[in-house]
Amino acid sequence: MLGPPGGGKGTVAKRLQAEFNIPVISTGVILREAVDKKNKLGIEAENIMRKGGLVPDHIILEIIKERIKQEDCKNGYIFDGFPRNIEQANSLEKLNKELNEYVDYVFYFEIPFSEIIQRLSNRRVCKKCSINYNLLFNPSKKDSTCDICSGELYQREDDKEETIKNRLEVFAKQTIPLKNYYKEKKLLKVIDANLSENAFLAIKKVLRGMHK
Ligand code: AMP
Repeated sequence: MLGPPGGGKGTVAKRLQAEFNIPVISTGVILREAVDKKNKLGIEAENIMRKGGLVPDHIILEIIKERIKQEDCKNGYIFDGFPRNIEQANSLEKLNKELNEYVDYVFYFEIPFSEIIQRLSNRRVCKKCSINYNLLFNPSKKDSTCDICSGELYQREDDKEETIKNRLEVFAKQTIPLKNYYKEKKLLKVIDANLSENAFLAIKKVLRGMHK
């Protein structure tokens, strides 16, 4: 799944995971966990993430290679937030050739930039299960507590106003070119992501078609 920060990929990913029983591999979630644990990866990534930049490609590739080796990935997986630039997409293609794997679809979440800022600045995330809430559109029932697991809700460091602008610039420069890249490979499906419910239903329909 490709799309701007705040485009709803994470939310849709969670629902697809439950619906199809396919693991979601979110590089953002993996990196944030590493930052929390203060391990080597976390220490390397923290500053870059705080500024809204991209973590170096070779680090991301290592994360992906390790993750897809795991048992739960043997029937497929959904990437959320990867690949993020042409270099990563080329590396994925190379890796897939080595592993005899392939990409079925690339879903691009289309959403106006004006929506994104409001979504990001009001987003709150559960520390425990990483589900997203929005103070305006989808608040939790109890202040700062997750409805599902009672984990603590927090505002991501990179959802603060000064970082959002940079993330959008990085997205426009590095990630949007992937739209054409996958269009040329005939893998692209553009999804109207203004409402995450619609995005979920649209992807579900495509994946159900595939599983018939
Ligand atoms: P996300 O949760 O997808 O918005 O990612 C949060 C941050 O993690 C990004 O702003 C980047 O700093 C970093 N990140 C996540 N995925 C990638 C990736 N595929 N390549 C480089 N950096 C990434």
